[in-house]
Amino acid sequence: MRWWKLRAEVSDEVYSSLHRRFKGDLLRPGDSGYEDARAIWNRMVARKPGLVARCADVSDVESAVRAGSEAGILTAVRCGGHSLAGFSTCDGGLVIDLSRMRQVIVDPARRRARFAGGCLLGSIDAATQKAGLVFPSGIVSHTGAGGLVLGGGTGWLTRRFGLSCDNVEGFTLVTADGSVVGANSEENRDLFWALRGGGGNFGVVTEFEVKLHPLTSVVLGEGLCPEADIRRLLERWRDFMADAPIDFKWNIDLRLAPHTENVPVALRDRPVAASWLLWSGHPDAAHSYFKPALALCNPESVRCKSLAFLDLQTMADSAFPYGRRYYTKSGYFPQLDDSTIDRMVEAVATIPSAETQIELAYLGGAAGQIAADETAFGDRSAPFIMNLIGNWSEASADADHISWVRGLFQKLRRAMTPGVYVNFMSGDEQDRVPEAYHERWDRMVAVKSHYDPNNFFRLNQNVPPRKIEAKG
Ligand SMILES: Cc1cc2nc3c(=O)[nH]c(=O)nc-3n(C[C@H](O)[C@H](O)[C@H](O)COP(=O)(O)OP(=O)(O)OC[C@H]3O[C@@H](n4cnc5c(N)ncnc54)[C@H](O)[C@@H]3O)c2cc1C
Repeated sequence: MRWWKLRAEVSDEVYSSLHRRFKGDLLRPGDSGYEDARAIWNRMVARKPGLVARCADVSDVESAVRAGSEAGILTAVRCGGHSLAGFSTCDGGLVIDLSRMRQVIVDPARRRARFAGGCLLGSIDAATQKAGLVFPSGIVSHTGAGGLVLGGGTGWLTRRFGLSCDNVEGFTLVTADGSVVGANSEENRDLFWALRGGGGNFGVVTEFEVKLHPLTSVVLGEGLCPEADIRRLLERWRDFMADAPIDFKWNIDLRLAPHTENVPVALRDRPVAASWLLWSGHPDAAHSYFKPALALCNPESVRCKSLAFLDLQTMADSAFPYGRRYYTKSGYFPQLDDSTIDRMVEAVATIPSAETQIELAYLGGAAGQIAADETAFGDRSAPFIMNLIGNWSEASADADHISWVRGLFQKLRRAMTPGVYVNFMSGDEQDRVPEAYHERWDRMVAVKSHYDPNNFFRLNQNVPPRKIEAKG
């Protein structure tokens, strides 16, 4: 009780210091709008911050960081609220919410854009497509660009144009002491390196400057491979992707087929491998890659079409709605050996819900050509990325889903290489953060110690600064 009171007093103190000069919204428990403002995408993480400071501009961010830092209050930073781990909220503390800061400015002649730290992917896509340009990002338009880009950012165009963070030319951020700092290839170069993959460890990014690429449509193929052929499909995928061109992306979801009209009756509710093929080169060349990739699919389930880029970017939006319960574990495989494939095939039959899946993607391409030490994101040499994503609705099913994800992860771990993509981590994996940065860890700690010596920004895949790391 005393502990809670103390926290309430601290958030009151932050509120008092902010309320006269703050241009955005300050929301406290009981205020109208507070209940919506405290919710994040993953319903597993329902917390009650003492104050949500929804910033209107950079000076609001500076004020919130200064006030929070001076009061020593636990502080979360929120862009789209899609942190799988739930880091964009907290109990009793301060949330610096950037959702009013969604401006996007496109410079078509230079193929550059500047976007504010609270943008969702959809707002960037809408603005850049007006000029026939794209910023390579993720696959669900309601995801926040802030968290996605800072952690790395993979999506449909990763093989063609690299990770999102590979396409950032500069950041503007508010650091833990409330200063506004730039980071690019000439200014604060260590910070620029660390921000490309290092997540929210270093400050609140208020603006990203990024490279854009010309693209307005793609060719999309899809098909469902029946259970009996999943093993052969995975073997084919493994061999095929090693030499595939950068214009070709082939993602596979191992799951139970949905019970919907467009799924062949024989497959409904049965284990399947859903293939998603994307061709971003000249449309005439798509067929020669799609044909072998879809050959093992049920013919009734196969579809190929040309698709506007904006339709591609929103087609998965409804599959990952707000308010469900999610739990993930992720890793990289240098090769996909036969016993790993066997374990995955066995696991599909035990999947605990229709929405839960084993997501497989092959990195390589432009993303794989960047050296391990060029960005904090690091080693891209293990091309097979696996994301186990538990997705369900009832709290009573939490234990079943979490234990299925954990159990399968343990079985597969032997074949993985050390490393994990920070944006696919759960909230209980803080011990894996050094693994995520492995040989880049010391450099990360050095940058963190310089810019955030008291670990003000600690609700993230945290890299503790030196004096805190030393205390253990
Ligand atoms: C439905 C869904 C689809 C996804 N698809 C993809 C995908 O295709 N590719 C992919 O790579 N990842 C994907 N992810 C993972 C995604 O990259 C992470 O969940 C990411 O953290 C989401 O960013 P956000 O801004 O919405 O998160 P938030 O929850 O708002 O923030 C997460 C963390 O990011 C940091 N942060 C956010 N904004 C800022 C900022 N402006 N300045 C400083 N720190 C900031 C903070 O540390 C915060 O704790 C997906 C996640 C979901 C839920």
